[in-house]
Amino acid sequence: MNVYDSWRIAAMLDARGMEQTDSVADADIIILNTCSVREKATNKVFSELGRIRDAKKPNALFGIVGCVAREAGATAFHRMPDLNFVLGPQSYHKLPQILENPDARLLNIDLSGLEKFDEMPQMVTAPVVSYIPIQEGCDHCCTYCIVPYTRGREISRPFADVMRDTLHAVKTGAFEICFLGQNVNGYKYTDGNGKTYHLSDLIRETAKIPHLYRIRFTSSYPTEMTDDLIEMFKTEPKLLPFLNMPIQSGSPDVLKRMNRPYSLDSYLEIIDKLRAARPDIQISSDFIVGFPGETDADFEQTLKIAKQVRYINSYSFKYSPRPHTAAALMPDQIPENIKRERLAILDNTLNEIQREFNETCVDKTFTCLCEGSDKTGRHLLYRTPYMQQCIVQNRDDSSAIADIKITAANRASLRGKDVTLK
Ligand code: SF4
Repeated sequence: MNVYDSWRIAAMLDARGMEQTDSVADADIIILNTCSVREKATNKVFSELGRIRDAKKPNALFGIVGCVAREAGATAFHRMPDLNFVLGPQSYHKLPQILENPDARLLNIDLSGLEKFDEMPQMVTAPVVSYIPIQEGCDHCCTYCIVPYTRGREISRPFADVMRDTLHAVKTGAFEICFLGQNVNGYKYTDGNGKTYHLSDLIRETAKIPHLYRIRFTSSYPTEMTDDLIEMFKTEPKLLPFLNMPIQSGSPDVLKRMNRPYSLDSYLEIIDKLRAARPDIQISSDFIVGFPGETDADFEQTLKIAKQVRYINSYSFKYSPRPHTAAALMPDQIPENIKRERLAILDNTLNEIQREFNETCVDKTFTCLCEGSDKTGRHLLYRTPYMQQCIVQNRDDSSAIADIKITAANRASLRGKDVTLK
């Protein structure tokens, strides 16, 4: 979501005749787009701001946008008196105000809903993988999560607006569309005629667009995985056979304290339905270890489900207490050393499953998307349908979409050969 937001901010400044620079010392405005989902990321923000302040030109404007801005609000100016602007994730379209009035401080952390989508200019050229946000905020209220506070209540964007942005992205360079939302599969929009659209409708309509090759969406909430959406994996070949559906923990007790009201049986039933619809589908998950009160037995259940589902490409984190969340106030916070140990054990397990999966890909051929070249320019970096990186020798006649035969694998990446070339 932040990557997308940064693209839109860059497009807004491009439209005003500004150019991007890699050098803080050359910049006239420096914008730090921030994430507060974990404590570590939040802590880095103010030390990074200190570095920017010391390196920038005296008159250059600098500030923060995004979730840390929303969380910190006016206190950000107390911690860093030189800051020029603090704009929450739904207010970054107000940024031009600071360009028009650089001597004033700009603070806006309102939850203004979808306003930013209407006010921001479109990107002139879309990236090959284009993110299209279809909703803002989240109503699930997991007890560890700061998103409902920083991004507000869940609002789905109008179907027509999403399709307009999707068509524009494909016309200007996108080969893959990734629909984004904190609760993306909960997308639900009712138009003026009373017709209600779901994510499955967006996928069906998007799949009709010529020259668009791949569709995916993230991040899914298990109980929103409805049958009409599962059916899409069967009927729409452009929808990639890969789904991130976070379970977070394999312990029913921990899930209850996380306020994630699904049973392991119901979660596994969804996986079974997905595999019946698309036998080659692979699932990824997010995991939190060391949630308050998590016992060794709870953690063992997380390891068990990881091995049972055989998740690939997953993300695992130590629990970190966030402000404005119920879990931060729970008793039985887990000591850091235990969290660290459990994370290492889980990471080893997930890495081993990933390596084994990658090895099963050798000698198979996948249609892959080129995302660019490595630093040397000698290799192209393709992305398989399972989001694995595949390194392929660069050739002048290589194309953005290619059939790649996998020739070698390790845990982190694959090597392959473009079999569409003679
Ligand atoms: S569903 Fe995701 S974004 Fe929503 S509250 Fe839970 S963890 Fe946060």
